[in-house]
Amino acid sequence: MSEEKKTGKRKLRPATLVTQAGRAPFEHFGFVNPPIYRGSTVLFPTVAALEGLRQPYTYGTKGTPTTRALEQAWSEIAGAVDTVLTPSGLAAIGLALLTATHAGAHALIADSAYQPTRIFCDGLLKRFGVNVEYYDPLIGGGVAAMMRPETTAVLVESPGSQSMEVQDVPAVAAAAHAHGACVIADNTWATPLLFPPHERGCDLAVEAGTKYLAGHADVLIGLVSANAKWAKRLRTTFNAFGMGSSPDDASLALRGLRTMALRLREQERAALDIAQWLEDRPEVSRVLHPALPTHPGHELWKRDFNGASGVFSVILKEAPKNAVAALVDGLELFGIGFSWGGYESLVLPFDCASYRTASRWAPEGPALRFSIGLEDVDDLKSDLAAGLARLKVS
Ligand SMILES: *Cc1c(COP(=O)(O)O)cnc(C)c1O
Repeated sequence: MSEEKKTGKRKLRPATLVTQAGRAPFEHFGFVNPPIYRGSTVLFPTVAALEGLRQPYTYGTKGTPTTRALEQAWSEIAGAVDTVLTPSGLAAIGLALLTATHAGAHALIADSAYQPTRIFCDGLLKRFGVNVEYYDPLIGGGVAAMMRPETTAVLVESPGSQSMEVQDVPAVAAAAHAHGACVIADNTWATPLLFPPHERGCDLAVEAGTKYLAGHADVLIGLVSANAKWAKRLRTTFNAFGMGSSPDDASLALRGLRTMALRLREQERAALDIAQWLEDRPEVSRVLHPALPTHPGHELWKRDFNGASGVFSVILKEAPKNAVAALVDGLELFGIGFSWGGYESLVLPFDCASYRTASRWAPEGPALRFSIGLEDVDDLKSDLAAGLARLKVS
């Protein structure tokens, strides 16, 4: 029997789901979007109600109808049992790691992880007695050999920040689960629309909603979703922090959600077009984009992902520092800055060698990361062509 018949509910496709999830217009006089509820105190009608704590909302830090709408929408989209919101993506990573570790535990972190994740692990986690170890993101199921009796968390990030390695997440998850460890995914690049984290074996999935969910470079927000096994522990850890998120930010993120599938589709198309164009440029040595057949992780990407987002990296042929600066500084349509996933294109020179400890990063030339926005692709190519020309003259 099909899933639809079993549940009595038609399974909506992702583009429809993002327009439907987390809305109940007739609970709000027919208005299409959930209203912004600001609030700390929630009143109880009687002492008995206060003692029972059985009403849907009890205090602002534990959620409002606005934050819950986003949590519920995200759970539906991610295929999760529960989701909590955090004030940033980095806070979501910290919350997930604290949910899955304790003093004396051992945590395995992909060497390709977002650099602030490492700073959290090497500073705070270690200070609280967690033994942090990095692993080569390309070892796949080989992570089994690094598991210890006290390993409680394995963090994956695929593709890796900046360096774009695709991990064999189902193989890592199988090895981790064989030892009872929690698999945490930083799924920011793909979002659940392009990589359904829990279906692929992850227990906790982190999304920097700041990026593709918000989509407009004007909101900081994070989300952690959990499967059935980890949902309660996640919610308990979240409540201990009193980590309430702003209903205004949740509302902006919900607005972003409605166009997220559409933006991702366009950004995938534009980024792939530009990546292919860059591959043919004489100044470019390699393009690191998982959807290109030349990418070493291409087959894994095809097996596990439903598409690509708009972020990829490029290794230029050897060039002096000032020439790369001339390329980047003169770009008119690409901002230089951290973050990504907005409507505006961004570029960032990077060097992973400075922080990697378990794998080697030694590219043949300078590296740039691009986040492709919603501009016309031909305008972006003209801007890049002029930039690449500056490599020679400087
Ligand atoms: C940006 C980013 C984060 C952190 O998100 P913030 O909201 O900026 O804190 C986490 N992981 C990845 C992969 C990111 O790119």
